[in-house]
Amino acid sequence: MKILEPKHFPFGSKIHGTKLSKNCPIEKAPAPARVYISVSQHIGAPAIPVVNVGDKVKKGTLIAEASGAISANVFSSVSGTVAEIRDIVNGLNQKQKYIIIDNDFKNEEEFLPPLGDFEPNTIIERIRLAGLVGLGGAGFPTAVKLTPKNPLDTLVINGAECEPYLTCDHRLMVERTDDIYKGIKYAARALNVKKIVVGIERNKPNAIEALSAFDDLEVVSLKRQYPMGSEKHLIYVTTGRKVPTGKMPFDVNCCVLNIKTVLAAYYAIEKDRPLTETVLTVSGRGIKEPKNLQVAIGTPFSELIAYCGGTSDDTVQIVAGGPMMGKALVNLDQYVRKTDSGILCLKAHETYAESPSNCINCGLCARKCPMRLMPMYIESFALSGDFKEAERYGAMNCIECGLCAYNCPAKRALVQSIVYAKTKIKEMKNGK
Ligand code: SF4
Ligand code: SF4
Repeated sequence: MKILEPKHFPFGSKIHGTKLSKNCPIEKAPAPARVYISVSQHIGAPAIPVVNVGDKVKKGTLIAEASGAISANVFSSVSGTVAEIRDIVNGLNQKQKYIIIDNDFKNEEEFLPPLGDFEPNTIIERIRLAGLVGLGGAGFPTAVKLTPKNPLDTLVINGAECEPYLTCDHRLMVERTDDIYKGIKYAARALNVKKIVVGIERNKPNAIEALSAFDDLEVVSLKRQYPMGSEKHLIYVTTGRKVPTGKMPFDVNCCVLNIKTVLAAYYAIEKDRPLTETVLTVSGRGIKEPKNLQVAIGTPFSELIAYCGGTSDDTVQIVAGGPMMGKALVNLDQYVRKTDSGILCLKAHETYAESPSNCINCGLCARKCPMRLMPMYIESFALSGDFKEAERYGAMNCIECGLCAYNCPAKRALVQSIVYAKTKIKEMKNGK
């Protein structure tokens, strides 16, 4: 058993929020009558539909094909008939193309072709074919991560799950330990690395114990401090390496993969299953029965909330994701994506729904920022439309962790302003 101490982590904060569902075993949610599957569930170009209305599909049928180097295949999560293909403005206010499939409840399944061997290139190609993306929320195509420009020496597995409320990774590490271990080993083989470290926050002692049973994994018991699960910070605390500003993990010879991603790799490689399901947490004080659920991609959020007993009358906000990095929904037209880890139903005291007041220049946002930025200035430049200056102040290095807004006594919507600035900076660079 190898449990290591982390490097000192001089950033971030302890944040409030209870893991209400940490002892709830994963349940399989009932299959919905209709799934709504977005073709834009990843970073990069949307996938292109390869089915038509009226087509019969099975669970695991390819319904939209990756459309470039940074893109990902999309599969049906039920067997049935393609009912519609149309744009929907979803609960996150994003207009996306959805393939809508009526479930025939026959549960017929289509598999990927069996693998001939387990050589690195075969593994990477399987992961690409199965539509795997970073399931911790980033959505970056995993096959691209597994083909870095330079040789790596370390695989870092992200089991931190540092957001309050979320417990799906924790339950998976406890309940599906062996499958996760096999997925980790396949990823290490694809990258040709020997050193594997697994970072887990120490509020999950049973997960630390489960994964430290494997002699070839170095498990690092992490302090409970947000945002411990951010890639750059996790690399630092587990390996001592600093990823410089503007650089990527591969620049310090590391690759970071999330728990659900390596588990999905195992299913794709050994079970020939493309990515059609995920595991997420439904929680918050507003939900009647918090749960960890295994769900079909494309399931309406409303059905999962109903399955968890519905919400209390004083629920004021529903969030896709964790309370720090998640996004509040503007309506309930939201459907499970590959990258979803949580649906939170929050009461007023759990949100930052208060009206903002003027900045009092207290500097707390800058002191708490794990990227050493000055969020109050970036916000000010964003609001005045000076995006060049916002960039000069490091807006593009913001990891959108939400700590600045969480700590701001004036309740400024700092992250929204910084995200807006980042969008505008990207548009400027693309000549728009
Ligand atoms: S500026 Fe960005 S990185 Fe810094 S605390 Fe705010 S959200 Fe996090
Ligand atoms: S924490 Fe809020 S009030 Fe304080 S400097 Fe930052 S933006 Fe201004």
